Amino acid sequence: MLGSKPLPPELFDAVQRHWGFASLRPLQEHAIRAVLNRRDSLVVLPTGGGKSLCFQAPAVVQGGLTVVVSPLIALMKDQVDGLTRIGVPAARLDSTLTAAERAATFEGIRNGTTRLVFTSPERLVNTEIFRLLQSANTHTIAVDEAHCVSHWGHDFRPEYRQLARMREFFPKASVHAYTATATEQVRRDIIQQLNLRQPEIHVGSFDRPNLTFRVLPRVEMHAQVREVIDRHPGDAGIVYCLRKKDVDEMCAALKAAGYRAVSYHAGMENAARRATQDAFAAEEADIVVATVAFGMGIDRSNVRFVIHAAMPKTIEHYQQETGRAGRDGLESECVLFYSGQDFLSLKWMIEKSGEEGGASAEYVATSVKHLEEMARYCRGAVCRHKALVQHFGQTYDIPNCGACDICLGDTQEVPDAMTVAKKILSCVARLKESFGTAHVIEVLRGADTAAIRSRSHHQLTTYGLLKNVPKNDLRDWIYQLIGQGALVQSGDEYPVLKLNATSWDVMSGRSTIRLIQLARRAKRSADGGKA
Ligand code: ADP
Ligand code: ZN
Repeated sequence: MLGSKPLPPELFDAVQRHWGFASLRPLQEHAIRAVLNRRDSLVVLPTGGGKSLCFQAPAVVQGGLTVVVSPLIALMKDQVDGLTRIGVPAARLDSTLTAAERAATFEGIRNGTTRLVFTSPERLVNTEIFRLLQSANTHTIAVDEAHCVSHWGHDFRPEYRQLARMREFFPKASVHAYTATATEQVRRDIIQQLNLRQPEIHVGSFDRPNLTFRVLPRVEMHAQVREVIDRHPGDAGIVYCLRKKDVDEMCAALKAAGYRAVSYHAGMENAARRATQDAFAAEEADIVVATVAFGMGIDRSNVRFVIHAAMPKTIEHYQQETGRAGRDGLESECVLFYSGQDFLSLKWMIEKSGEEGGASAEYVATSVKHLEEMARYCRGAVCRHKALVQHFGQTYDIPNCGACDICLGDTQEVPDAMTVAKKILSCVARLKESFGTAHVIEVLRGADTAAIRSRSHHQLTTYGLLKNVPKNDLRDWIYQLIGQGALVQSGDEYPVLKLNATSWDVMSGRSTIRLIQLARRAKRSADGGKA
């Protein structure tokens, strides 16, 4: 066993010789050690964190064969081409090979020259090729994009479920899973579905300090998107839209205005999608306008901005998609435009997938919860780096990141936020912590509704305390109180607002919170450039 002994010098030599890297990142060392020790592992690193080296480098110094499972032919091709360029013998087994290519791949595996072979999950377990791979001494199986095995992840692929069987075919091989999606639920699912045996788990830092995050209410989508693009003239960027129709319209508008834009969505033919990817990789296009379908394996490290023209479905999606910016480590900007309508549209899509697509009720409920987390992020008043890192279960101690709208002061503080917060919290208390956000807002605004009259809530002392505040602002502030831990939303089917110790500290003035005025930010951003 290698234990925590230093890695063998051959490994560093290989990394230097083939990749030209002077050193390994700390987590890469741990991840590589697990492979050399033949110890199952789960490695979670954000996009751009350097996952591929974790299984590629050990494959070079070990005898025998490493099998890499990958979800997309395009991804396999990129990796094999990249490895071949740097002199690492790699091949792929997929449906697109010609008879001659296939024969060459087989020969390389048989005579032991091939170090890494890339294939799809269904090929690995459903065809006879596992016999060939067995006889070639396959000792390592690397499962790339391992979150595809979990339907809690953002890219579930049923084929990945078949991988449970690979242990039968390769009982002696160690199995290593790699992903950028880090929620507890997905992690547990990967371990279980892939039958990992007492895996080492390595989770990298989820902060991307070179990204500046901004969230703005969407007022005029096209103008706002162009404003961001114009801060990065001639640079590469991605604009994510909710629907195919939005992609087509946005791309057409950008082209008409003279930008080098191309589009990408699931409704396009394979060849057209490939053309978009190639044009972007070859720097013949600056901007890709896309739905979530675009992303895995984008081979361009100098993406300077990622714009979300609408709110994504989950924070995982957001993290994954913004992760495509600044993979070269240079400063890049991520701007998200949202409106309350996004939440409703996405919720409708999720519910429809339950009714028509046969998704389970549990799945629908979890998806809606994820959507709510995303909405709270958008409307929050907490440093964006902090909020994102905390979402992935890590702590963030830097008081001012200097790289988000909140810390840069793009936002406007609500005057006398403490008084406003006390009014909201005491209304929740008067309502005996038994009502949801919408009802609390109605009571605070002094609405005359049947629900209020029938419960005599118009007689509460907090009724109408914030009469002149727009509904949207109140909802923002409630989310901001939740985000700062001064209010809790609980209950699955009918979420109600509840108080906790911090709420009482705020009401008695022992703790302070801040509230920001989100709706004004759209105007401010119109005159403010990049800070
Ligand atoms: P991921 O698959 O996690 O998104 P990649 O494997 O594509 O990340 O690596 C991201 C970038 O980091 C690539 O440009 C790669 O060349 C670079 N990289 C990876 N490891 C190192 C290292 N040890 N030193 C320097 N650059 C590295
Ligand atoms: Zn910040």
